[in-house]
Amino acid sequence: MVKMVKGSDIDKLKALVIKEVDSRQDQLRELSLKIHATPELGFHETRAVGWLTQYLKKNGFSVERGICKLATAFRGSYGKGKPAIAILAEYDALPKLGHACGHNLIATSAAGAGVAAKAAIDRFGGSVLVMGTPAEELYGGKAIMVERGAFSNVDIAMMVHPGVYDAVTTEALACIGLDVEFFGRAAHAAANPEAGINALEAMLLSFAAINSLRQHIKSTARIHGIITDGGEAANIVPAHSAASFIIRARDNAYLDELMEKVLNCFVGGTTATGARLEYRWGKVRYAPLRNNLALARLFQKNMRSLGRKVLLVEPLKAFGSTDMGNVSQVAPSIHPSVAIAPKEVSVHSPEFAQAAASEAGIKGMLDSAKAMAMTVVDLVANPETIARVKQEFKSK
Ligand SMILES: [Zn+2]
Ligand SMILES: [Zn+2]
Repeated sequence: MVKMVKGSDIDKLKALVIKEVDSRQDQLRELSLKIHATPELGFHETRAVGWLTQYLKKNGFSVERGICKLATAFRGSYGKGKPAIAILAEYDALPKLGHACGHNLIATSAAGAGVAAKAAIDRFGGSVLVMGTPAEELYGGKAIMVERGAFSNVDIAMMVHPGVYDAVTTEALACIGLDVEFFGRAAHAAANPEAGINALEAMLLSFAAINSLRQHIKSTARIHGIITDGGEAANIVPAHSAASFIIRARDNAYLDELMEKVLNCFVGGTTATGARLEYRWGKVRYAPLRNNLALARLFQKNMRSLGRKVLLVEPLKAFGSTDMGNVSQVAPSIHPSVAIAPKEVSVHSPEFAQAAASEAGIKGMLDSAKAMAMTVVDLVANPETIARVKQEFKSK
């Protein structure tokens, strides 16, 4: 027989997990600022992982480092068996900009939520996992971890990303990288141009073709790129050129379609110039984000009870991508946004990096930790809640 849990019991437990976060706020602030001050790029986040796993161990978690054959991935767990609720930590920084995506706050909100949620696990059973997921920005660490089975026993997954809105559902596009190179033939650009094959012209034609293509793609898709090699000197016909592109779409089918169209633009460049084309698709493909609404509503209610006016849908249709998309394809997930900066500030900017170490940033991190731990309470206290979340996941 399923034991009924009284609403007042749940409320008491929620008050307790809030207190658990509050009593550790100085430690969480310090941890967050330390990670912020020591930005590490994807797959090199050794110090952040050291601090985070140490913190979890000190607070009763068992920790396994280097899971999925990724040196800076980890799994902290508390409790046993089902339901297994995962809270995801990111901790990689951006080249030159440091923590301009605020992953220091994601890391500490996950650790704070996990430790606070212990009270719920002690009372109702199940387990809470703090999953350390490296290299979100550059290499899609979670996509690799999903492929290697890190989430196969996870019932529900959640994380909170800092942003400029308080919103429980966010949009993130499917996405893949493309590296291209043209190989031509060098020649004196003035004395002997007819002997050359111009690899840069092949690239410029391809850019022009992609610009034309952009007029006729869905408004929710994105194609953007940079030239990483455009030749050696103005008096040499460029024998080599290279570029990096990213293609994004709302669903996988449209991404497939665009991948073919973009590649054809580069094929056009080779046809026109005679330069040879080589290309490589990114090893990791980011999946679109599936927001679980039943789970999102629980989190929204908890966040609102902390005094935040949380929206169900982010007004800014932010067309980024996240490897949380890949997790959301295999387990019911949420990836809410917590506001830490004014609306005019752009993520991946120096201003956002500052916000990630500001008082508003710390407040967002602490509220996120509380609301995630409260959501764990909702889930473990009532099997019907989990059933509802899972039902929605299966039904789409
Ligand atoms: Zn980012
Ligand atoms: Zn990010």
